[in-house]
Amino acid sequence: MLGWLKNPTVQLVISLSTASFIAFYLYLRRVLQHLDPSKAIPERVRIAFDTLTEGLLVLDIDGQILMANSAFRGFHPQAGGVLLGRSITQLDWLIKGLKEVDAQYPWERALTTTEPILGVQVDLTHEGGESRRALLNCAAVRDAAGNARGCLVTLDDVTELDMANTRLRSALAELELSRDKIQKQNEELQLLANCDPMTGCFNRRAFFSRAEPMLEHAKKTGEPLSCFMTDIDKFKSFNDTYGHAVGDLVIQQVARILKAAMRPEDVLCRFGGEEFCAFMPGMDEKAAAELADRIRDTLQREAGPAVDAVPNLRITSSFGVAQFGKGNANTALLLIERADQGLYAAKEAGRNQVQCIDWHPEKAAAAAH
Ligand code: GH3
Ligand code: MG
Ligand code: MG
Repeated sequence: MLGWLKNPTVQLVISLSTASFIAFYLYLRRVLQHLDPSKAIPERVRIAFDTLTEGLLVLDIDGQILMANSAFRGFHPQAGGVLLGRSITQLDWLIKGLKEVDAQYPWERALTTTEPILGVQVDLTHEGGESRRALLNCAAVRDAAGNARGCLVTLDDVTELDMANTRLRSALAELELSRDKIQKQNEELQLLANCDPMTGCFNRRAFFSRAEPMLEHAKKTGEPLSCFMTDIDKFKSFNDTYGHAVGDLVIQQVARILKAAMRPEDVLCRFGGEEFCAFMPGMDEKAAAELADRIRDTLQREAGPAVDAVPNLRITSSFGVAQFGKGNANTALLLIERADQGLYAAKEAGRNQVQCIDWHPEKAAAAAH
């Protein structure tokens, strides 16, 4: 609620009104040093105070009004009439408008402290009227001996400022909203630019821009980096038998299972129609081939049943795996090419299997016995 008080413009106005408040105070203090405040305020003082835009009240020690300038009388429809001699606490419109209800009113507190009470919020909105806000300042007026003789109360209208502030806040909120919208659109554009819309996998451009730093890292650290290429077996038959739409569903289900099998540090891309390629940092050929074989197994069990449109669909994929630095695989393209040779070998050997140029799970199993 008090956030608007932190606005630099509001603070500037508070400082200016505080400065003028202190000036009135000093003037009045001089006057009251020579006068008994219970007597009428001299005419020349009254006239001077009537020129002020701030509402001003001079109270005696009991809170009785000794003087109200014309700005104060104009503050509220009920602020006119007879004010002199009335207690400030009888001004219902002012008392009700005080935002912070305290054990003591601000003018009573001012009498007990040497510091002025500044910036008390007052809501002056009257029934059927527009919202109006003011800031109230109070300071004790003391005689030469330092005894409080009365109190000076000023009221600054900050409605305009408050409204400007509200407009500023709503403009800011709109700006933030459109900034968020632009950011969201940028993210969507980024996604469109980087991803294949059918599967959500990276496209080739985004894939290579991520693969290159992986290669650099592997070169620098000597950590292994492997790649697999995979292609759906006899995919053309799905299109031919069930139509292109079912072919699309098959590609989507295979992509979903591949994505789920990847670690956050891996990158997977839709390389072409029903071909996918992945780079897996920190994995040697053996680990990559074992992972590829697990994925192959998941695919043959889960991809077909996931295509609701066709019951009992059997989907399998073949994989080729290669490790960076083996053979001539010392660039991203050569690594992919070597994995592709493995894939070709897997197709040749009967499909639904994983092949590496140097390593094969069956050979590895045989070697282990
Ligand atoms: P193999 O086991 O040797 O890989 O046989 P295949 O039938 O999968 O091989 P082929 O490369 O001849 O078939 C790929 C087909 O995929 C050809 C093309 O029409 C189809 N295709 C490519 N992109 C899409 C696509 O986005 N959606 C659909 N439905 N079909 C596609
Ligand atoms: Mg193909
Ligand atoms: Mg195929």
